[in-house]
Formats: sequence, C-alpha cells, structure tokens
Amino acid sequence: MDRRPEGSISENVRLVLERIRHATRQSGRPDGSVRLIAATKSVGLDQIREGITAGLAILGENRLQEALPKIEGLRGVPVQWHFIGHLQRRKARSVVGVFDLIHSVDSFELAQEIDKRAQEAGLRQAVLLEVNLEGESTKSGFRPDELEGLLPRLGALSHVEVKGLMAIPPPVSDPEQARPSFRRLRELAQRLSRQRIGTVSLEELSMGMSSDYAVAVEEGATMVRVGTAIFGARHVSSNDYQ
Ligand SMILES: *Cc1c(COP(=O)(O)O)cnc(C)c1O
Repeated sequence: MDRRPEGSISENVRLVLERIRHATRQSGRPDGSVRLIAATKSVGLDQIREGITAGLAILGENRLQEALPKIEGLRGVPVQWHFIGHLQRRKARSVVGVFDLIHSVDSFELAQEIDKRAQEAGLRQAVLLEVNLEGESTKSGFRPDELEGLLPRLGALSHVEVKGLMAIPPPVSDPEQARPSFRRLRELAQRLSRQRIGTVSLEELSMGMSSDYAVAVEEGATMVRVGTAIFGARHVSSNDYQ
C-alpha cells in the first residue's frame, strides 16, 4: 500500500486528526480521548513548525542526538516531546526530564536506570512499557508473559511512573491485519490492571502508525504515533522504527 500522503502537511494533519476523531467515536469514546504523537524523525524544523500551526501538540523523536537540537530550536513553542525510539541505558540520564513521556521502556534494567537518573534529577519520569507482542527476535520489548511478574518490581521504582503499554506490531499491508495485535495489547493491559498496583497505571495504550492508526483507535489506543501520513515518506529503508 502506498502510504505517501497527497496533501500539504497542514492538510495531512487535519485529515489525520479528523480520522482519529471519527475512529474515537466509533470506539464509543468521547472526543479528545486519543492523542496524536507526530513521529518527527528525519523531519526538519520548518516542516515541524507547519505541523504545529496546523494542530500538532506532541512530537515523538527516536534519537536523542536528533531530538536535542529540535527541542532547542522550538524552545518556547507549546509542544510536548515524547521519546519513542529504542533507548540505550547509557543515554537514560540525558533523556530523563527532557521528554514528557518515554514510550519505549523495554527492560527492567532500563527502568531501573531511568529511576536512578530521575531520582538524581529530583523528578518522576512518566514511561510506557514496550511489549513485544509477537515475540519477534529482531524487536525489543517485554514478553507479555513476563510482565505480570515484573509489574510489582516496576511499581516499586519510586521515580518512575508507569502510565501504560506501547507496541510496534509488524507492518501490514491491510490495516485489518493489525487489529488482533491491538486487541491483544488492550487485553493485556486489562489483565495486568487487575493486579492493582497502586503506583502503576495502565490506562495509556500507545499503538497504531500511519498505515493502521484508525484501527488502533477503534481497538482502544489512547495515543497513535504517526509520521509518514503527515510528513510524507522518509528516505530510509524499511525498518527504521528503532
Ligand atoms: C517512525 C515511527 C512511527 C511512525 O511511523 P509511520 O509509519 O511513519 O507513521 C511510529 N512509532 C515509532 C516507534 C517510530 O519509530
């Protein structure tokens, strides 16, 4: 499927927001229940500014080195920054406190490191737990079956606030093919919530990208991460979701 959008960035932002609103209603939830995270890797500041003018409020970056100059360049502009790429432990210190939410906590050791750095910085860092739904060996993330045992330990980290789950299901040509994965992530969050660990919330579900975000919203996403459908195709090869 060709995901290259036809319109200008402003038109694309409006279209994506409209589709999100429609799918939110389809899922029986009130308007505003789903937030759009614009995935801005390889996108320049001018394009990002155009997107913000058209209504983008949250920007998702994959790499610290790429994000920092953009954050600097947009200082004073009322946007939130989310970290959505793979995070190495040694970079945790630089990410903590800079991003409002880290979507991609994929190991207990990384959570511990974030906890330590957040404590040093005197803040609590909001995070999502990345789940490797299909057990793909090339992808990072918690296995669904290990989360139950780990949740109490994650909840005990006093400077990390677990807000929900995130997943990057394999790319599909038909968005309907992604529906079972989205449903599984939602059901996993529901199941884990029954543990009722006071400090852990699993209300946020970050799932859905350009090719399948509407289906993700229908299945309960509270955040979708969309790049190509807003900014056009990136000039890089297929698997650049790290
Ligand atoms: C790039 C990226 C996206 C957006 O992907 P598109 O297919 O361009 O919408 C979403 N999530 C992550 C983690 C990404 O790296």
